[in-house]
This record gives sequence, structure tokens and C-alpha cells, in this order.
Amino acid sequence: VGENKILNGKQVAKSLEAEVRAKAEKLQEQDIVPGLSVILVGDDPASEVYVSYKEKACQRVGINSEVINLPADTSQEELLAKVEKLNQANEVDGILVQLPLPEQIDEEEVIETIDPAKDVDGFHPVNVGKLVASSTELIPCTPKGIMELLNRYNIDLVGQEAVVVGRSNIVGKPIANLLLQANATVTICHSRTQNLTKHTKEADILVAAVGQQEFITADMVKEGATVIDVGIHRTGDGLVGDVAFEEVQEKVAAITPVPGGVGPLTIASLMENTLVACQQRRG
Ligand code: NDP
Repeated sequence: VGENKILNGKQVAKSLEAEVRAKAEKLQEQDIVPGLSVILVGDDPASEVYVSYKEKACQRVGINSEVINLPADTSQEELLAKVEKLNQANEVDGILVQLPLPEQIDEEEVIETIDPAKDVDGFHPVNVGKLVASSTELIPCTPKGIMELLNRYNIDLVGQEAVVVGRSNIVGKPIANLLLQANATVTICHSRTQNLTKHTKEADILVAAVGQQEFITADMVKEGATVIDVGIHRTGDGLVGDVAFEEVQEKVAAITPVPGGVGPLTIASLMENTLVACQQRRG
């Protein structure tokens, strides 16, 4: 335990980004600069913040980034036409449509229109299918970042009880699949789970992707567990996660902080996915 108790996502993200930068520089020797296009529809403030983080990260690692701002009343046809144009553009390696989308937009159809080879969010059914069948490079960014963190801290997963609270397509389901591939024994919990604490207390690895502020309390975790907090909630005192950090950290062997845990890893993984997409298409 000791100083490794707080899993430093920010630091791991920094070294991941340095690796991406080095590889991007290699590509530049062949006159190739990886490109990421982000489509932002409307003016959701949280989305604007996330998109600005992604842009800054691109600058740090040497990826060309373009943000396409579309008005909130953009039609389905206009958005699909934009995506198709980016599918055709050779200098665009990654296409990311920032979620959530306005009500008039059919999110599924938009995701399915993205060229799977440029799907740096890993949400296209082709990549989702490959992830489950264990063979895609384009893995959703948050789960990919979590696996990198566990890996770099040498946290043993083989045969361990891993419990994921949350079953979203962007976090819960993909992280559960990755933990399964890493030979953990995986339980997925959700809002219909009965006796949630019974499950969470068994977890050697507990992933909280609930979307409820400080939802996981000390009585819900096993002594000596590793806790990964995916949640992000803005409060008067700054960001907090889905885990009641202060009380839970007393009890566990390792835990990610919020901020400085999963968030930076998500961004670094997006950089990695964009680089990989570029290498596969043009490298
Ligand atoms: P969703 O809202 O899509 O999913 C939440 C999941 O938690 C659902 O599966 C839901 O169950 C389950 N859930 C809700 N309430 C309970 C409950 N009382 N008991 C058990 N399960 C419950 O959220 P996301 O997965 O998109 O995100 C989760 C959190 O992570 C959010 O705070 C989000 O802001 C944050 N986030 C952070 C990222 C990062 O980079 N750090 C990236 C993405 C998200 P059901 O399916 O039954 O409704």
C-alpha cells in the first residue's frame, strides 16, 4: 500500500501522452500528422469543457484537432452528412461526436454512420462486437484508461472478484468485458440489482460508474479492495466522484481520486486511439 494507495491517474496519463507524442513524432517523419475531428452539437456547458480538454490534449501530443460546432437545432440529415464528409477526409483519422446529442437526433444512427476505422470512441457496433469477441484496437476511452491504470500499478486481476456498478455502453459494459478478458470474475450491478451491498462487499476490484454523487460508502466496500471511481460531479467544493472518497480510502488498498483519477486517463486514451487509428489507416 503506502504511497501507492492513491492511484495517480494524472501521472499515468502523462506518461501515456508522452508515449503517444513520441509515436506521433515518428509519423511526422513520414509527413503524417494524426487528425481528430470532434463534432459538438449545441452548447451543453459540460460537453464544451470536455471538448476543450480533448483539444488541449491534442496540442500536447502533436495531433491535429478540429472542433466542428453545430447549432442545437441541427437536423439528423445535416449531422449525418457532416459525419460522412469526415469519413471521406483522408487527413481525419478520428471522428468523435460528443454525447449527449439533442433530442431530435438519433444517437444510434449517428454512431453507426461513423467509419468504424475512425471510431475513436469505440462506440460503433463493429468495435463493440470486436471488443466482446476480444480483438479491437478502438476500445472506449474510459475503460481503456482504467485498464492501463490497473496494469501500470500491477494490480492483479486474474481470478479476482471484480464488481462493476453501472451498465452503460460507454463505461459499465465495456469495462466489464475488459475485466473478463483479463480473467477476473465479473459481476455487473445496476439500478435493479437487489442487495447491492452484498455484491460490492465481495469485490476485490470495485468499479463505480453509477452517476450518483458519493454513492459508494465505506460500509459497501471490502477491506483491502481496489476502488476505481468513474463518477464526475461538480459541487460547490469542486469535483467529487461516485465514491465517498474520505471514508472509503481509510478501508481500501488502492483508490482513484476525483479529480486526478479516471478523467485524465480517458483523455489520454482518446489520444492513443487517434494515434492507433492513424497508424492503421496511414502508417
Ligand atoms: P449512466 O447514467 O449512463 O449509467 C449509470 C449506471 O448506473 C446505469 O447502468 C444505472 O443502472 C446504474 N445506477 C444508477 N443508479 C443506481 C443505483 N442506485 N444502484 C445501482 N446502480 C445504479 O452513466 P455513465 O456510465 O455514462 O457515467 C457514470 C458516471 O461516470 C457519471 O458520473 C459520469 O459523469 C461519469 N463519467 C466519467 C468519465 C470520465 O472520464 N471520468 C467518462 C464517462 C462518464 P440502470 O442501467 O439500471 O439505469
